[in-house]
Amino acid sequence: SATSTALGGGSRLEGKVALITGAASGIGKASAREFVQQGAHVIIADSDKEMGSQTAAELGARANFVHCDVTEESQVAEAVDFAVARHGKLDIMYNNAGIVGPSIPPSIADLNLDEFDRVMRVNVRGTMAGIKHAVRVMKPNHAGSILCTASITGILGGLGPHPYSVSKFTLPGIVKSVASEISQDGIRINCISPFVIPTPLVVAQMQKFYGVEREWIENMIYELGELKGAKCEDIDIARAAVFLASDEAKYISGHNLVVDGAFTCF
Ligand code: NAD
Repeated sequence: SATSTALGGGSRLEGKVALITGAASGIGKASAREFVQQGAHVIIADSDKEMGSQTAAELGARANFVHCDVTEESQVAEAVDFAVARHGKLDIMYNNAGIVGPSIPPSIADLNLDEFDRVMRVNVRGTMAGIKHAVRVMKPNHAGSILCTASITGILGGLGPHPYSVSKFTLPGIVKSVASEISQDGIRINCISPFVIPTPLVVAQMQKFYGVEREWIENMIYELGELKGAKCEDIDIARAAVFLASDEAKYISGHNLVVDGAFTCF
């Protein structure tokens, strides 16, 4: 089956400064790598200190780690300020950090509202905090591109556990609500809705609940996909993010870019 390869060295984000939350792993890490390869300086903001600093070290001199739990507004503000202090500006804010929360039991009757709050705190409140503080520093420059990672579980019901799904339905709404205001300041905001990708988040969750091997999970996801002959990979999301973050997308704002091989078209 077709696998994506990195775009390779390029200059599509030359001289841009980007902050990516949840960039220590998975989709965020793949995006950080791609951004660096396209000439950007990247701040890897993650709540996992060990993985975050390891990722920054792997990506080289144009990547820095800053510890940031997106549920703490002060830490989000500090991460944004760190980017500006170090590089003089923030061009791209990618609100990607997210958690799945409990996937069993899936029934609404058994919903634990504290777990619901926990998922919403990271996926929704964390994203709002990121947008708020990015706009604060982008506004004076009359430019900027903000991205968020939504999901296909926020397009169709029944694909994910309720707290996660509800949090992801919320993101395209946030994007539209905010886009209308910040367009006045020349700032764009978009989200990307990926299909299932066997990142550490997904693999760990499925292994925990179903006790299955990684290979089985990857095959199951491939079989689930509608677009045959290709797999959805973290790099596919990273490439979409490069496009939306870059000046190539200069008139695209308020959009939800669905990267799902037509899964939600049926
Ligand atoms: P991942 O677990 O590999 O990476 C998530 C990262 O976010 C981790 O590094 C983790 O430490 C960090 N993080 C978690 N909570 C945080 C917090 N409070 N503050 C800061 N960082 C925090 O997962 P992933 O699959 O790469 O997920 C990234 C995003 O993509 C999430 O928003 C997820 O909902 C979304 N998504 C994933 C898939 C998929 O199939 N993998 C599909 C659609 C959407």
